[in-house]
Amino acid sequence: MKPISATAKSIAPSATLDIDTLAKQMKADGIDVIAFGAGEPDFNTPEHIKEAGIEAIRANKTRYTPASGLPALKSAICSSIEKQFGLKYENKNICVSSGAKHIVYVSVMALVNPGDEVILPAPYWVTYMEIIRMAGGVPVVIDTDERTHFKLTPEMLESAVTEKTKCLLLNNPSNPTGMVYTRQELLDLMEVVKKHDLYVISDEIYNTLTYGCTHTCLPTLDEDIKNRTILIDGLSKTYAMTGWRVGYSAANEEITKAMSNYLSHSTGSTCTISQYAGMEALVNNTDEAEQMRQAFDERRQYFLRRIAQIQGVSCIEPEGAFYIFMNIKQQLGKTFFGEKVETSAQFAQSLLKNGLVAVVPGGAFGAEGYIRWSYATSMDAIRTGLDRFEQFLKQGK
Ligand code: PMP
Ligand code: GLU
Repeated sequence: MKPISATAKSIAPSATLDIDTLAKQMKADGIDVIAFGAGEPDFNTPEHIKEAGIEAIRANKTRYTPASGLPALKSAICSSIEKQFGLKYENKNICVSSGAKHIVYVSVMALVNPGDEVILPAPYWVTYMEIIRMAGGVPVVIDTDERTHFKLTPEMLESAVTEKTKCLLLNNPSNPTGMVYTRQELLDLMEVVKKHDLYVISDEIYNTLTYGCTHTCLPTLDEDIKNRTILIDGLSKTYAMTGWRVGYSAANEEITKAMSNYLSHSTGSTCTISQYAGMEALVNNTDEAEQMRQAFDERRQYFLRRIAQIQGVSCIEPEGAFYIFMNIKQQLGKTFFGEKVETSAQFAQSLLKNGLVAVVPGGAFGAEGYIRWSYATSMDAIRTGLDRFEQFLKQGK
């Protein structure tokens, strides 16, 4: 038989989802593993949102919707963005999609020609790299490190731009590092973006999850930036709605039209029931989201206190999202349970097998020497998981 597509062959599976599936399988097999793999809130979707979904089914709101989303949901998205950031968009600027992941994909498809370069600061969320490659784009990875708190600087950006650069893919707050750009840092970066006439895909899905700092929504900087930015958001993280699959974008009309066309030929539209539930989440915004944020913050602080007491590992304090990006460089080169551990992947494998704790290796995010913990899990799990981690580290020789 002829080979399947070269692009399809080259796509790596999602490391975050893989680890999650493995940990779930181990649990199903009766193994008492504690999972810190997937970034998925442990909370249930709030009752009133679930009810809105059930009500939609009862009311036979079960047919196709316009490809880029229900007009009423788009209006709710515009109102929510305006309320939160003082930014004005109209329905013609909005696309609703089956999750933010899909709308990042559609954004890249809308902007990138084969061979165009997309600048991607590392550590990056695993999916970005593959999406750029799926679109035939060329990912240009800029390594950041702890010296700049894993943030991209204007100098780094400037040195990566070529004639082929089409856009910058920015994630703020960041998965996996939890870093949050200040307004000034964004303003400085955007000078370079404007100078070279680039687009920006700004994935701000964790914008409501910040701790003691202020999130700056990129398009609020000025009209020019707003016009060249595709703002990405979604309901998965803020409203504990991962499985409902609702994400959305806000962008200029030309880009939005192109994205809408893509949606019309790919998903057709986002699940109608989920759209009604999503509308309830945005319109009747109760304080559940804030309660979840506070719970994440308590867990974050607990994590930080514990890590400060553990020898041989460290982390920079994350200010957003729900991840700890732990530096394990001192552990590499040691032998754990009879096996030499040279990479973060080997460390994560040994920790899972011998310590029964699932984390994602930094290599998956383009940052060797780190592991990512999601603290979107219960305090009990965090306590026990860190106890196990400490015991595991003691075995390193
Ligand atoms: N962007 C980032 C940075 C994420 O961590 C996630 C998590 N899955 C997504 C987008 C996509 O979220 P979803 O597809 O569930 O809306
Ligand atoms: N975004 C989350 C994570 O990074 C969920 C899993 C995924 O979709 O990749 O773990």
